[in-house]
Amino acid sequence: MASDIYLDANATSPVLPSAIAAAVEAMAASFGNPSSSHASGLRAKHILDTTRARARRVLGAGPGRVLFTSGATEGIQTAVLSALVAVRERRAAGEDCGDLLVYGATEHKAVSESLAHWNRLLGTNLTLTALPVDAGGRHRLDMLRELAPRAAMVCTMAANNETGVVSDLDGIAQVLRESRSRAYWMVDCVQALGKLPLDLAHTRIDYAPFSGHKLHAPKGIGMLYVRDGAPYTPLMIGGGQEGGQRSGTENMAGIAALGAVLAALEEGGTFRTHAELAALRDRLAGALRDAFPAIVFNAPFEHTLPTTLNFAVPGMPSKDLLDLFDAAGVRVSAGSACSAAKAAPSYVLDAMGLPPWRSGGAVRLSIGPLADDAFVDAACARIRACGQALAAPVLALADGAPGVLQVTGDGRHGWIVFDGATCVVLDPPCGQAERIAALVRAHGLRVLAVAGSGLDPDGSAARADLRRVLDLAASESQPLGWPADCGTVALDDGSHAFCLTIGNAVLARVPHCDGAGYLLGTAHAHRLPCSAVRMAFGALAAGDLQRLAHDGTVVCHGLDVDGVACTLPAARNDGTTGQLAADALDAFLRRHDDALLVDVREAFEAAAGALHLHGRATHNVPLSRLAEHVAGWLAAPARPVVFVCRSGNRSAKAALCLRRAGHAQSWTMAGGIALAGPESTR
Ligand code: PLP
Repeated sequence: MASDIYLDANATSPVLPSAIAAAVEAMAASFGNPSSSHASGLRAKHILDTTRARARRVLGAGPGRVLFTSGATEGIQTAVLSALVAVRERRAAGEDCGDLLVYGATEHKAVSESLAHWNRLLGTNLTLTALPVDAGGRHRLDMLRELAPRAAMVCTMAANNETGVVSDLDGIAQVLRESRSRAYWMVDCVQALGKLPLDLAHTRIDYAPFSGHKLHAPKGIGMLYVRDGAPYTPLMIGGGQEGGQRSGTENMAGIAALGAVLAALEEGGTFRTHAELAALRDRLAGALRDAFPAIVFNAPFEHTLPTTLNFAVPGMPSKDLLDLFDAAGVRVSAGSACSAAKAAPSYVLDAMGLPPWRSGGAVRLSIGPLADDAFVDAACARIRACGQALAAPVLALADGAPGVLQVTGDGRHGWIVFDGATCVVLDPPCGQAERIAALVRAHGLRVLAVAGSGLDPDGSAARADLRRVLDLAASESQPLGWPADCGTVALDDGSHAFCLTIGNAVLARVPHCDGAGYLLGTAHAHRLPCSAVRMAFGALAAGDLQRLAHDGTVVCHGLDVDGVACTLPAARNDGTTGQLAADALDAFLRRHDDALLVDVREAFEAAAGALHLHGRATHNVPLSRLAEHVAGWLAAPARPVVFVCRSGNRSAKAALCLRRAGHAQSWTMAGGIALAGPESTR
């Protein structure tokens, strides 16, 4: 497995070596409690004081307060609590403080959720109002001008974590000044530290939270700047640490580490300048354009941090792009890290008015200000290799037998039966037309039929959509899309079925009261006997399969049945998945010399990073091509099959499928190659 190229610095960043050293020192030699009056305590207090002094200088805090917190989320809570308590008091004294809590539509969820939470808990009953952004992601100052007179608090981040869009803080300050707003102003500066100049005491900003781990300090340490004179209410009360403003024994390892990062910022020479970072960003963007010629960047570079690139590639969902990058050892994220697991559309990009494919397909690549030329060279080379991997044939064929590819969308499975020159698309799922058409075109296949089974209520619309994208005749010449010009084949029950020839096999259409079923097998002398039926699709009941197929026929479903997309006519075991822990794999492989290691990642992932486990090569069978291989594996029931993939999800499905089909020796490597570690993936 390729070594990591970490391009997800906006999610978190690697800890600076001098910060690690400072943290270790604070835990070993200087472990005292800064509140103790003996020498050990005084040494710790010295670290606390010098770090705060540095922070004041780096932030330009002037007479304002700088408190150490656990991170930005705590700083945001503290700022919101302080502002709303003050609003409540001013109101009680009869002052009109406005009725709105205004926050940028692209703020981190920590801001909007905190506003809602404290507004509810404190009973301030203000109306949360999202300040819209323009197509470039910047706050609509015209809208702010309208809202400012009614705002009790305004929250506008300095730079966005997903897009890197830098806010026009001077413009916002001017609007607040001109509208004589008395609103408290919080600016989430998490993504700005080390990337944008800060001179907080010379601004109107009341509260500015920071998070250490976004700039090469560890997780669990942050800072909050509070303007001199801005109201303050502690979030935590207790032993009176931080001058009574934030109780709890200080996180001295974190503070010492943050101090080392602040020292690097103040002294210079460690972090790249804005211009240097912009040059690195341009090189990364160039590599991305080479790899994905149709790429679109989701925010204009002139108003974004030079460390963040947010993009989408037409026809490639973000999940595929992330899988591809991860296979090449390039760590990026989909939208924001919080939503990466869900791959949901990004609310930030939605707020910018981008079309759903750009919002749902967005990928964020972010570097830290430590990045250097060698690192970016390596990253660019990997990115270009990702582009080349995309050329890996998805519809490769091993022999004359037709291939069968599963296409899933919205929980429904469609199937493409293909040979080297032609294909039939069965039950294309809704929303997959572009993807199927791109595949078919990339492999130069002639589409013999776009056929349905009648089982999917949206089937005819989905077929019509695919016909349109493929430039086929708009209307179906026969019901459910079967072509008029085809041959016939005799089935074992004496009936005749229309059929198409694909590779060395035939695909026969079996009419059914609910629609149609399809049988794929090798015909002899215009006969397709039960024993020669390899696969079945569509509307076929158990009785049909008994009459027309055999026990080993692989049945490909339109919806998961018992959690899997393909089964045998009768499930043969209880459907347990054989789980192999990553650290048990080596011993398992030693015990089972004949075990087959199957990588079920997509072909482009395997092309981006071929997988070896414990010195053994893996055999790539993408999950989407599993159905083709089930019968072959079942023919050797004693030979263990160990499925692996990136995170263990796809391999678990494959193992479950084969177990249900009766292969008691099918296994999944739990947790995927992500947990296998570099030693085992050689
Ligand atoms: N604000 C922004 C802009 C962020 O990017 C993040 C982290 O993703 C946060 C706030 C929350 O920071 P933390 O998780 O350190 O509390």
